[in-house]
Amino acid sequence: MAAPDPVADAEARAIHDRILTIDTDVDTGPGFMTAALDPGRISRAQVDLPGMRAGGLDGAFFIVYTAQGRRDADGYAAARLAAEDKFQGIDRMLRAYPREIAQARTAEEARAVHASGRLVALIGMENAYPLGDDVSDVPMWAARGVRYLSITHFGHNQFGASSNASRALGDADTDDGLTDCGADLVRALNAAGIMVDLSHVGRRTGLEALALSKAPVIASHSGARAVYDNPRNLDDAQLQAIAEKGGVAQMVAYRGYVGDVDPEMARAQRMLRERLGLTVGGAMQRASAATLDDYARELARIRAAYPDVTLAQFADHIDHAVKTVGVEHVGLSADFDGGGGLQGWDSAAESFNVTRELLTRGYSEADLAKLWGGNILRVMDAVQAMAQ
Ligand SMILES: [Zn+2]
Repeated sequence: MAAPDPVADAEARAIHDRILTIDTDVDTGPGFMTAALDPGRISRAQVDLPGMRAGGLDGAFFIVYTAQGRRDADGYAAARLAAEDKFQGIDRMLRAYPREIAQARTAEEARAVHASGRLVALIGMENAYPLGDDVSDVPMWAARGVRYLSITHFGHNQFGASSNASRALGDADTDDGLTDCGADLVRALNAAGIMVDLSHVGRRTGLEALALSKAPVIASHSGARAVYDNPRNLDDAQLQAIAEKGGVAQMVAYRGYVGDVDPEMARAQRMLRERLGLTVGGAMQRASAATLDDYARELARIRAAYPDVTLAQFADHIDHAVKTVGVEHVGLSADFDGGGGLQGWDSAAESFNVTRELLTRGYSEADLAKLWGGNILRVMDAVQAMAQ
């Protein structure tokens, strides 16, 4: 890599500082906003408030994430608790640091919070599983500020098929489309002004949800399948369908969806997880702070020791999506603290690198403002306007 030119860098930095930058998929790690992990300080997490400041990342969709489990009363009850726990963590952060970060529910609020010098918190929900057998909780989540909801995560659920069937849960490898309950969900999300999110959703289920939705839909964190063939990514027809509906596809800087992960690196990571007892489901949530610190430190060492998937490869996904559907329908996400990141954008603190890379590739400041937040805020407002 050529040495950065300090003059060009200062210009790029000025552009980065002028635009409102939003990452649309940030998870909260184990113990978030407890003694184990304080996002108000420099932490082991990829996203904390000092890191956002350092990298000029102005806002993020923090995610109420629930892993897929069994579709029975016990499973739904556990999922409801898990979702509540995630939401409470985000809410505690907002209450603990009111001068640092504030929640936004509309584009206008996002811009106002940003103008006040604070970081912008938006809320998304990954996996509709905790809703249970019906969609009566949707207005409650909307009132709490949830602005997008992914129908599925890994594994099929009561609403439809995932892009990744779960063998452990006995899923069939097929996508039978949106269920009746899934159709109810799309209607309920439209009515509540919540964006329907197709990331993690099976191709057929997603296209059926899109066709049924009266409002634009999004993919909150997925790549371009024409650049890297992975079921989590979107093919050109899916990208076009999202764009034609007025929505936006947020390319994701998740190394395993961006390109081939070096097999030796993957092996080293697997061995590390085995050594620390972090392989079974839920192990991360139960691990001690010391174990998680160890894991973060060792992971960084491994990633430095092997050739990694790069920011340039991620930018290839952005280039392809923009060429295919136009700059109005593409955005950026990293899936930080949920497995995301790659060399050059591996934490919020490195967010400026994305702007510099895209400027090098010929994107204008206006393009960057759209990619970094303008598009998702436009869609968020459109979806809420249609609900009223
Ligand atoms: Zn995800």
